[in-house]
Amino acid sequence: MQCSKCGNPKVIYKREQSGQLLCKECFIESIEKKAIKTIKKEKLLDKGDKVLVALSGGKDSVTTLEVLDSFRKRNIIDICAVTVDEGIANYRQDGVDIAIRHAQRLGIEHKVVSLKQEYGITLDEIMQRENHKGSCTYCGVFRRTIINKAAREMGATKIATGHNLDDEVQGIMMNYLEGNTDNLTKLGAKTESQAEEFTVKIKPLREIPEREIGLYVVAKDLEVHFDSCPYAMQSFRGEVSEVINQLSEKHPTIKYSTLRGYDKIKNILKEELKKDYAHGRCKRCGEPSSNELCKACSFLEELGL
Ligand code: SF4
Ligand code: ZN
Ligand code: ZN
Repeated sequence: MQCSKCGNPKVIYKREQSGQLLCKECFIESIEKKAIKTIKKEKLLDKGDKVLVALSGGKDSVTTLEVLDSFRKRNIIDICAVTVDEGIANYRQDGVDIAIRHAQRLGIEHKVVSLKQEYGITLDEIMQRENHKGSCTYCGVFRRTIINKAAREMGATKIATGHNLDDEVQGIMMNYLEGNTDNLTKLGAKTESQAEEFTVKIKPLREIPEREIGLYVVAKDLEVHFDSCPYAMQSFRGEVSEVINQLSEKHPTIKYSTLRGYDKIKNILKEELKKDYAHGRCKRCGEPSSNELCKACSFLEELGL
């Protein structure tokens, strides 16, 4: 067995979908090249951008930071980062500490914002309430609001998230299975919101499978937080992920074909399902919202906060 690219006999990875064998150096290079290819193909970066990385300290966000840093080193973009501390005991703090260390290592502007300081409640406390809507519902909405706000405060022109191929395919399938066509149109490599106050979101790792990102951080010896969130498997996303992974065992290209298929119909979907959002504001917090209250504020009201 030898590396399909350079002949090195120390192979660390076999790509199931193509049969390609890769040594450590060629594997690392292939991941970085793939992310850069997505960035160029989808025009995710413009010269002079200030990109806010949503940095959890996990493998995906640390890899995103690493890839984008190569653009920063070439003075194409500037980078800053935000870490959201949801308040999940025995889980989040390690990620926060790792995120702080990466930001210090690269010397970038970094901010940690907790749900507790922002809204006066932790995710664990919300989960102790009766009739809660499920951890990920609150987590997703509050995190998004915090990140959008941080982007404005830090003057960022783009927000980069660590969504990988698995995340994106789960998103496509989940929204499809739930009949959530509204959210289905919001997926993709670059998401621009109708409201100007919402910064453009980009996903440089969207075409890289989760397991390859896991191997990348190990091969590059990057410090990351590997534990998964204790609430993850309770979620519908967790169930969908299990089914997709089971299917992938027999059909190794299924994640790519789902993504390609979605990308082909995405613009048609967007055009067909286009909504004219009223460019209103949330009466409680002033954030752009199509309803009287934004999602975050309506959750806060329900929680009596
Ligand atoms: Fe938040 Fe759910 Fe992800 Fe845990 S699994 S971090 S609760 S979105
Ligand atoms: Zn090689
Ligand atoms: Zn609001």
